[in-house]
Amino acid sequence: MSVETQKQTLGFQTEVKQLLHLMIHSLYSNKEIFLRELISNASDATDKLRFEALARPELLEGGADLKIRVSFDKASKTVTIDDNGIGMSRDEVITHLGTIAKSGTADFLKNLSGDQRKDSHLIGQFGVGFYSAFIVADQVDVFTRRAGLPASEGVHWSSRGEGEFEVATVEKAERGTRIVLHLKPAEEEFADGWRLRNIIKKYSDHIALPIELPKEHYGEEKDKPAEPEWETVNRASALWTRPRTEVKDEEYQEFYKHTAHDFEDPLTWSHNKVEGKLEYTSLLYVPGRAPFDLYHREAPKGLKLYVQRVFIMDQAEQFLPLYLRFIKGVVDSNDLSLNVSREILQKDPVIDSMKSALTKRVLDMLEKLAKDKPEDYKRFWSAFGQVLKEGPAEDFANREKIAGLLRFASTHDATGEQSVSLADYIGRMKEGQDKLYFLTGDSYGQVKNSPHLEVFRKKDIEVLLLTDRIDEWMMSYLSEFDGKQFVDVARGDLDLGKLDSEEDKKAQEEVAKAKESLLERLKGVLADQVAQVRVSHRLTDSPAILAIGEQDLGLQMRQILEASGQKVPESKPIFEINPQHPLIEKLDAEPDEDRFADLSHILFDQAALAAGDSLKDPAAYVQRLNKLLVELSA
Ligand code: ADP
Repeated sequence: MSVETQKQTLGFQTEVKQLLHLMIHSLYSNKEIFLRELISNASDATDKLRFEALARPELLEGGADLKIRVSFDKASKTVTIDDNGIGMSRDEVITHLGTIAKSGTADFLKNLSGDQRKDSHLIGQFGVGFYSAFIVADQVDVFTRRAGLPASEGVHWSSRGEGEFEVATVEKAERGTRIVLHLKPAEEEFADGWRLRNIIKKYSDHIALPIELPKEHYGEEKDKPAEPEWETVNRASALWTRPRTEVKDEEYQEFYKHTAHDFEDPLTWSHNKVEGKLEYTSLLYVPGRAPFDLYHREAPKGLKLYVQRVFIMDQAEQFLPLYLRFIKGVVDSNDLSLNVSREILQKDPVIDSMKSALTKRVLDMLEKLAKDKPEDYKRFWSAFGQVLKEGPAEDFANREKIAGLLRFASTHDATGEQSVSLADYIGRMKEGQDKLYFLTGDSYGQVKNSPHLEVFRKKDIEVLLLTDRIDEWMMSYLSEFDGKQFVDVARGDLDLGKLDSEEDKKAQEEVAKAKESLLERLKGVLADQVAQVRVSHRLTDSPAILAIGEQDLGLQMRQILEASGQKVPESKPIFEINPQHPLIEKLDAEPDEDRFADLSHILFDQAALAAGDSLKDPAAYVQRLNKLLVELSA
């Protein structure tokens, strides 16, 4: 044992304590993953070393033979994971193995329920990494030295996984990190060559560098070699460099878990080698669920970038558009230079053409998923649909393709779920229908009963119901699909085209003429509030309705802008009446101008309420209504 100096006892950050507690109590049914996590870290550490050594070859200290060694000692009940990667300095040890750097961690931990089954699911989503050592160990010792620092600047970190850890400076001849797990009494089974070999084969076969175990020694104890002989137990080649036909699904899945730090299987993946003017390999995955920080601005996104098999960076964001930020995976280029930086990536035209090719790959992969595995696509949609909806605005060139991937709630689907595709809709279109009708609003419950749907219900025409916050904004970027125009049924002068018969149209014109004086009277009363008053052909049951002007902002966009403190341009709705409705007939026959005005205001306010808007002067509305009620009962 070498001399330890500068000993220090430090407390874990609160979040680490919570995470440790949770992990130990939630992940006991899947204990063996600790090894996957530690090997995954060791592999990342060698990637980092290789990358830093591109600029500073002296970091390799003469040893470029990168590997991971896993050993065990049955007598002392330990398992040891050794790597000759980048290692850590004392400061790095204190931050990396004492805190959690992810943004949103505290919020995430607040969501935990205390229900172990549910929480283990959540914690898998969060990723546990190094701290998973404490699932099987009641004491963990880390010996590490950062490549490039002298042997005297090794660090010993030690903890029992409770509230605190110790750090001390020690001599460490080899660079890299050694992690010694002192197994809990119940976990001694892990100090076993056969067990460790199986776990490595199962979870870490895809790791690109050799993982070695001591060769099993059979026969006489006295013949056992003094130094263990090592043998490589994994395949030790970068998975994405192998031909697709030779990689098993399980291997793709394990590789995903390593790269994405996810615990669950991906929904699907796409592995491609591109040759020709540009040469690169990509392996892209669609995760099975949203990460806890999907909507965090600083949440990690982007692909792992390799250049000729050398790891260059995590989170290379330049290869996919933002609306596909949930995609995980690897891209390995033969054309980029090894000293490529984020700044260079931003300017390089090579990246642009890779980006458009990769974007297309992802969209194709999603199309295929939707076609071949509708149940999985449903899962995809509920996890990432909202993000994909940013697509039409961000990616003009692929609008049509993205639109085909969207899913909607609809008047012709009783589940209320977002499950109808535009292809489904088009397949059900009525004879003579050449438009795609939709309605936006706050909630499914509200739009489903909107008076705007009355005429569509009567004619049995399907209307898509859009109630996500992003929908109105998204639709402002989608004008057509498959050569057919989108029409917001709450907007402008609804023209049903061939869906209205000639007689219908004639009748509408005649009614409009007959009601001209009523329209004039209404305009007089509501002049301040409306842009126009006209006869509606949207309604069958309701007396009146508000339509949005063709160029005006809808309610949803107005509310979003207002909430973000922006000035919203003034716009007045169009007030439409249903001349067949008894209330409108009554209104038309009302000789008393005061009562006419009261009734008009009430109808206008009711139409605003039905549209999901709030009233400018709710008290006045209540007063007028009460006045009428009193008269009625008098
Ligand atoms: P994550 O890997 O998700 O960042 P971990 O808790 O597993 O989270 O590890 C925290 C950090 O500790 C890593 O990001 C890395 O910087 C450092 N680390 C862990 N294991 C090693 C290792 N074997 N060699 C060097 N650094 C390591």
